[in-house]
Amino acid sequence: MEQDCIFCKIVAKESPADIVYENDKLVVFKDINPEAPVHLLVVPKKHIRSVNDIEPEDQALVGEMVAAAKLVAAQEGINESGYNLLFNVERGGGQIIFHLHLHLLGGWKR
Ligand code: 5GP
Ligand code: ZN
Repeated sequence: MEQDCIFCKIVAKESPADIVYENDKLVVFKDINPEAPVHLLVVPKKHIRSVNDIEPEDQALVGEMVAAAKLVAAQEGINESGYNLLFNVERGGGQIIFHLHLHLLGGWKR
């Protein structure tokens, strides 16, 4: 666990979050400031700073993040209507929380 990392604190249940899915490797919780009708964050329990810090041994974990996104999209009933999966990478890419996370955005009527 990284000191002063809000997502590590959520993973450790030291900070509250609306968790919709959890397994031994990751948690999925609602974004506090949603930008879509459904806006969830897929967060590995391991602290990885950003996509730039993914090591070869993390590649299975990244695959599990995508698999969890697919599963939770179905759980939320947005898999048929469609959704976006997004990594913001570093400050120039809009990253503000430096603990790896995959945005799952969907639920629009279009
Ligand atoms: P980034 O821009 O780093 O890719 O996205 C970070 C996301 O985390 C933002 O959409 C922001 O609303 C969300 N966020 C930041 N702090 C918290 C928090 O304490 N709890 C939850 N649930 N979401 C957060
Ligand atoms: Zn962290």
